Amino acid sequence: MENAFEIPIDLLQKCVRCGLCKSVCPTYKINEEEGSFARGRLALAQMVVSGELVLTKDLAKQWDQCAMCRRCEWICPNNVEYKDIMSKAKELQTKTLGKDPIKMMGLGALGFMQSSVGKTVMKTLGSVLSILPSKEIKTFIPISNAVKFMPKPSKDAFDIRGKTFEVQNSKATLLFFTGCMIDTFYTDTGKNAIKVLNKLGYNVIVPKDIKCCGAPHLYSGNIETFNMLKAKNQAEISKYKFDGIVVVCPTCGGALSEDYKYQNVLDFASIVSKETIPVKNTKKESVTFHVPCHSYSAMKTPLSDFENTIKQTKADYIKASKAQSCCGFAGLFSIKNPKLSESIQKEKMEDFKSTNADYILTACPGCVLQLQDGNLKFGNNQKVMHIADFVASKLDDV
Ligand code: SF4
Ligand code: SF4
Repeated sequence: MENAFEIPIDLLQKCVRCGLCKSVCPTYKINEEEGSFARGRLALAQMVVSGELVLTKDLAKQWDQCAMCRRCEWICPNNVEYKDIMSKAKELQTKTLGKDPIKMMGLGALGFMQSSVGKTVMKTLGSVLSILPSKEIKTFIPISNAVKFMPKPSKDAFDIRGKTFEVQNSKATLLFFTGCMIDTFYTDTGKNAIKVLNKLGYNVIVPKDIKCCGAPHLYSGNIETFNMLKAKNQAEISKYKFDGIVVVCPTCGGALSEDYKYQNVLDFASIVSKETIPVKNTKKESVTFHVPCHSYSAMKTPLSDFENTIKQTKADYIKASKAQSCCGFAGLFSIKNPKLSESIQKEKMEDFKSTNADYILTACPGCVLQLQDGNLKFGNNQKVMHIADFVASKLDDV
């Protein structure tokens, strides 16, 4: 990631313009322009690097309208390193055109949440807002006219940090990299993941002073901050002894395995699917599953790990025809491009509605946010849950 402002031409030349990526790109499906999928976005980068085109705001809009889902990378026969190229392209964009206010706001909020003042503020806000009956708050973001049903901060925000959850005769010790959304909004999901892992015989360590994994910064071209966060996290992680790292967010997991280069980074479902979960006899329920893009494009988690985990809960699994399509969240993408994000989301919610499943499960807190937002906007009336919460709800506690 050194040589920050250069986009190596050999990286760009790996694209042979076959166009296969068009078939999987969520933004091409809506915009239907050459510049709205990987081949076109890469061609623009190549023309900017070679001096054929000037980097203008209009050109950069095509890059900003990329969800960075990396489905193009997943399908690309030529192993084009799309993420690395776009990170550098977006860094060049910031250097040339100045800082983007929405990215500054979003990344600034992440930094604030992880500061000591921010932790206290979020926790206090969580306690105050816990008196409201609804789980989400309809939020208007004036800078882009986005309207989103946002989760309330958790009153227990950051509570699991700096603790070790031990069991007798443990089979292994896992370091749980919680991630910003679990720390702040979905702390119960973090607790539930620990509960299940403990039940299955794993010790779980939650490091104390972890920062954002940096993926949102890297994906937005803020490579310098990413490197700073990576160094801080590596220093903190090095204080602990563990056998593997577990995540419940595949974007964090992708950063830890691909960019931090940790060897044994596993999705919660990859661990659980290989175990026998003691489940209680409850009413038969039906579930469908949204496969987060970064689960397969970044973390390379097999789909069977999620499906086997669901099967163990004894729920009826109804596979949606578009289970593996993007949900349209992609963090700052959904704030910066609300209409585009909502068009992608709408198709997803219609597909889930047609399954008639009681639950929509997924394996990423960002996708939970987006699917619950879609659930409320498009009247799906289905329960949206992280797979860790669903498994925990089925655990036989005896
Ligand atoms: S699939 Fe890969 S090689 Fe083909 S156009 Fe897309 S990025 Fe280029
Ligand atoms: S990362 Fe996703 S949105 Fe961006 S070009 Fe690739 S497939 Fe399309």
